[in-house]
Amino acid sequence: MKRIGAHVSAAGGVSNAPLNAAAIGADAFAFFTKNQRQWIGKPLETHDIKAFHKACEEHQIHRDHILPHDSYLINLGHPEKAKLQKSRDAFNEEMKRCEQMELKQLNFHPGSHLQQIDEETCLQLISESINIALEQTQGVTAVIENTAGQGSNLGFRFEHLAAIMDGVKDKSRVGVCIDTCHAFAGGYDLRTTESSAAVFEEFDQVVGFEWLRGMHLNDSKKELGSRVDRHHSLGKGEIGIEAFRFILQDHRFDGIPLILETIDSEIWAEEIALLRGFENEST
Ligand SMILES: [Zn+2]
Ligand SMILES: [Zn+2]
Repeated sequence: MKRIGAHVSAAGGVSNAPLNAAAIGADAFAFFTKNQRQWIGKPLETHDIKAFHKACEEHQIHRDHILPHDSYLINLGHPEKAKLQKSRDAFNEEMKRCEQMELKQLNFHPGSHLQQIDEETCLQLISESINIALEQTQGVTAVIENTAGQGSNLGFRFEHLAAIMDGVKDKSRVGVCIDTCHAFAGGYDLRTTESSAAVFEEFDQVVGFEWLRGMHLNDSKKELGSRVDRHHSLGKGEIGIEAFRFILQDHRFDGIPLILETIDSEIWAEEIALLRGFENEST
């Protein structure tokens, strides 16, 4: 069974995230556990966490289907020592917030070399950053997201994800999330059923489906291989709708959060209904 949702707002308190998810017919969701544009978050209060759990329970959203996202400021592969440390501290803090909320995973963008170090060195720094965070926390899996490869961001090739995971010591707490817009911008053709099948075959060869912890379902405003990250509503961009039908009808994507980060939150309920329709066509 597919678990479908969106990256919802947690404005006004973390317990609003499951409420916002339920309101659009979601049984999965993503959210920021703190303001994503700030380094330090307000500490979570016990009553906030209790309210969050209560709302998840009431709306029957299981912890396995929640995929929080870290701050955009963090660069776990930063070439400068002091700035790398600042990012690592912030990431550890985010992992601890997830642990406190009894969440099982944290989704993040790997990092950027900023043209100052080579790719391999940067990928090693990212692996080491993950190792540090896993040593300092318990129960939370670090979920590496593929990127569009904008600027000097790494993670736009499946090989990058594999290389980062290779350097992680505790393999029981690392995984990946594939964003369809990012994959397409990174050069993976998802425009037809056949090309989508080939892309995920390649993913399985290079990374492996056993490491897949979530998907971000977004169409792309920019063309194949543009290396530019501009999301679009499903079926309205350069990818088109077939990749999403393919994903919803393939059992390898069962039971993991499938998260919309599409640009028009007004139509998220419709997009979720459309995806559920694709799933039902196949059963
Ligand atoms: Zn994403
Ligand atoms: Zn994106």
